[in-house]
Amino acid sequence: MSPLTALLIDDDPVVHDLINYHLEGVVDRILHAEHPASGIALATHDMPDVILLDIEMPYMDGFQVCRELKQLSLTRDIPVVFLTSDNATHHVARGLDLGGVDYVTKPFVAIELQARVRAALRTRRLIELLRVHAHIDALTGLKNRGALEDGLARAAAGVARKGGGFAAVMLDVDHFKRVNDTYGHGIGDEVLRRLGATIGVLCRPTDLAARYGGEEFALVLPETTQATAITVCERLLEAIRQIRVSAPGGEFGFTVSAGLAMAGGDCPADDVLQRADEALYHAKGLGRDRLVIWAMAPADEPGA
Ligand SMILES: [Mg+2]
Repeated sequence: MSPLTALLIDDDPVVHDLINYHLEGVVDRILHAEHPASGIALATHDMPDVILLDIEMPYMDGFQVCRELKQLSLTRDIPVVFLTSDNATHHVARGLDLGGVDYVTKPFVAIELQARVRAALRTRRLIELLRVHAHIDALTGLKNRGALEDGLARAAAGVARKGGGFAAVMLDVDHFKRVNDTYGHGIGDEVLRRLGATIGVLCRPTDLAARYGGEEFALVLPETTQATAITVCERLLEAIRQIRVSAPGGEFGFTVSAGLAMAGGDCPADDVLQRADEALYHAKGLGRDRLVIWAMAPADEPGA
């Protein structure tokens, strides 16, 4: 785990000494800035876990600094604790309205300062947990659609920077409605969970596997040739054919259809998921339980 870091922005050198003294053991490291601008620079560069921000500073007060920090995506979620010698309610309210999580009045009471900093650090951890969970599909534990879009953007940026290519795959459970109608939604969910687990196990650490929605899943395989992507997909389809799901009437299996499209070279990254989806539609039309690779020829078979 990276060391817990606090950043202190205050124009008074004495406050820096006091904070060093009082926060020993509460955080692992304290960064110091005596000017607002250098404080903002340190915040964006070092991404501290909490920022202690003096309100009364020359040239640019703490409110302005806070406003800037909250506008920058890098620093937006770092909790800000205001330090003030003016504890007038309107003053404090303004700081909290600007996005500060708390305030401490000078002169400090050591245990209060420490408790408020610890509380701010808890807030920081919760924000990080939320950020992680915001990218996970609750049913399958795979990434969700938002994370998939981020992954696609990263893969596309990688191609733009280094050349090469990446693969996108769309997968869809065959006759999923029939599973739900026959066994109920509980068993339908179990199919999706088992499928998600199998996809998760067979993907390489650099691959991104996501639930696209419903019974549809998507993979992004960065820096991958078409031949490798086909191997990954065929292995996955075979593993999925082996899954057995328990139901009241006995075990049953299921299959998926898959569409693969490559990005890179002449193939624009923006279209890759759409193309994989077209190939998936084609795979359904050809009888399901198979992989189809996107090619220029339009897929005109009816899907299902
Ligand atoms: Mg001051």
